[in-house]
Order: sequence, then C-alpha cells, then structure tokens
Amino acid sequence: MKKPVKVVVTGAAGQIGYSLLFRIGAGDMLGMDQPVDLCMLERNTESSMKAAKGVKMELDDCAFPLLNSITSTPDLKKAFKDAQIALLVGARPRTKDMNRSDLLNANAQIFIEQGRAINNYADRNIKVLVVGNPANTNAYIARKCAPDINPKNFTAMMRLDHNRSLTQLAQKTGCKVTDIEKFCVWGNHGNTMYPDITNTLIAGKKAEDLIPTDWYLDYFIPTVASRGSAIIEARGHSSAASAANAAIDHIHDWVLGTGDKWQTMAVPSNGEYGIPEGLCFGMPVTCNNGDYEVVKGLELTDFEREHILQNVKALEAERAVVDELIAK
Ligand code: NDP
Repeated sequence: MKKPVKVVVTGAAGQIGYSLLFRIGAGDMLGMDQPVDLCMLERNTESSMKAAKGVKMELDDCAFPLLNSITSTPDLKKAFKDAQIALLVGARPRTKDMNRSDLLNANAQIFIEQGRAINNYADRNIKVLVVGNPANTNAYIARKCAPDINPKNFTAMMRLDHNRSLTQLAQKTGCKVTDIEKFCVWGNHGNTMYPDITNTLIAGKKAEDLIPTDWYLDYFIPTVASRGSAIIEARGHSSAASAANAAIDHIHDWVLGTGDKWQTMAVPSNGEYGIPEGLCFGMPVTCNNGDYEVVKGLELTDFEREHILQNVKALEAERAVVDELIAK
C-alpha cells in the first residue's frame, strides 16, 4: 500500500466541502490505491467546529478504506504541517452590504494567512487549488505570501467553467463530452471568462464548422459565464456538487495526468500569450508526471486577443487592490 498523502480542505463544513470530502474519501481524486490523511481547517467558531464534527462523524460512518485518518482543526500550523495537497475552499461570501473591494479585502486576509502558513509548514512540493472566490486573485495572494514554495504550485479553479462548456457543446452538436478536444476557458473565473473553441475539435471535426457563430457568440459565451447565477436562481443555493466535482477533476488530472489532452487550469502566467507575468490566469494545459504545462505555440486570432485582454484588465484591477493589502 502507498504512503498516505496529507490533504487539507478549508471550509470543509460548507456546501462544497460536504460533496468534496466524500469524493476524496472514496478515492475519486487521487486514485483507488492512494490512502489519504484528511485534515479539515475550519474557522474557530462554535458553529463551524460543530458542523465539522458532524461531517467527520459521517465520514467515519462511511468506513472508507482509503481514509487513513480524519482530523479537524482551526489551527493553521496543525492543518498545513507537511500538507501535500491543499484545497482552499473556505472564503467569505459576498453579503448585501459589501462592495467588490470589501469582498477582496475580507478574502485577502484569509489567503494572506493561509499563504504564510503554507510557506512555513507545508511540504515543499505542495499542490494548491484555490476554489474560494475571487479564486484567481485569492490564488495570487496565497502565492505571493509563500515565497519559498514554487509559484507554479498555486492554481485556481476554472475547471467548472470548462466542464460546463463541454456539456453545452456536446448537447448542441449531439456528441459526447469525450468527443471534444482542444477546448479551454481563458482568464478569470468571473463574467469576462472566455470559453474558446478556436482550436476545438468535436469528433475530429472543427467545432467552428459545426457550431453557428451566432449561437457561439450570443448564447454559448454568456451562458457559460452566467451559469453560476442560473444555478442559484434554479436551486436557491450556489453550485456545490458540480464545484466539488470540478475540484476533484482538477487535482486528479494534475496528479495523475492528462497525456496530450487539454484541460483548463488557472495558473500563474510566465508571460505566455501576452498575459502579464504573475496573474493567475485560466489557460489550456496538459498534465504529466505530476506537473502541468501551458499549451505552447497557439496563433491567437484578434477575437481571442480581445477577450484575453478583457480578462487581463479584470485581474490587473484586482491585483492592484490586493497588492496594497499584501504589502501592509
Ligand atoms: P459555504 O458558505 O457553504 O462554505 C464556506 C465555508 O468556508 C464555511 O463553512 C465557512 O465557515 C468556511 N470558512 C470561511 N472562512 C474560512 C477560513 N478562513 N478558514 C476556513 N474556513 C472558512 O460556501 P460554498 O462551499 O458554497 O463555497 C465556497 C467558496 O467557493 C465560495 O467562495 C464560492 O464563491 C466558491 N466557489 C467557487 C467556484 C469556482 O468555480 N471557482 C464555484 C462555486 C463556488 P463559516 O460558516 O464559519 O463562515
């Protein structure tokens, strides 16, 4: 049997956490031969700790063979000590009285603290996935606060946007999601995100030849970008099981590989495709041997450039706000 991998999940008692933990316990994230030491980091409030205790009781009751241990703590040092994978899900939701900069500020404090704890205590090869919104900028903050860890290891989740897009494309063309290759969502997990079919093949044919341009521009792009709001409208709560599934997919592929198949991950830019260095940006990647690589050599069209630029502007504006907070 392999040595257990220590996985930290923050906000584990929230709604995404409630779907995520059981999938991790069942082996969906790291494979059926990989035991896990699961640690839930919760806020130090009576209600959070009580909720985490309830989740732990249910995990115990599943008797998952791969769950070597389950702990919950509000202590950052205990949680991140030797952690090899961190799923940073817990974040402050936007309330009615908050504007966007209040939200950035409240979340910046959370990710500054967690970034520092990762820097001080985690395994040097830790893989970090930020789910809590604003996910791209929160991942940027955590990375900036962890200067001793490879910057590459701080990623944010755009896989839900990717998965949502695959189903829209499959339903439109009558194909299977597995027939779709070379698709990605560029940019920010926000309303400027850009689901891009320029290079996409569906059952071996060019997607642009199969899909009417007006459907792509007027339906597909806005539908993917506003899917989160549509779920809230329909369900009365934000996406939870599908977000947890996307987090599982993201880490699964990063650890176990995709071969030459593209996936979308938000990763720190090294200046690829004119994206300013350091922004945590959704890009097409392939994963092999526990590492990811941004797909190289794409010739961007003017349409792609224009949409990528909108996302650059959105993320640069957020970066300007949080850089001041990190420097304090
Ligand atoms: P919930 O509000 O249900 O859960 C959030 C949990 O995080 C709560 O248990 C909360 O505790 C906890 N929490 C808050 N701050 C901290 C902290 N500093 N340390 C540890 N735990 C903390 O939210 P969801 O599970 O629905 O969503 C979580 C995040 O994921 C949100 O930011 C949401 O916007 C984001 N999201 C991202 C998606 C993406 O594609 N990137 C998709 C869907 C959601 P308490 O109750 O005590 O405050």
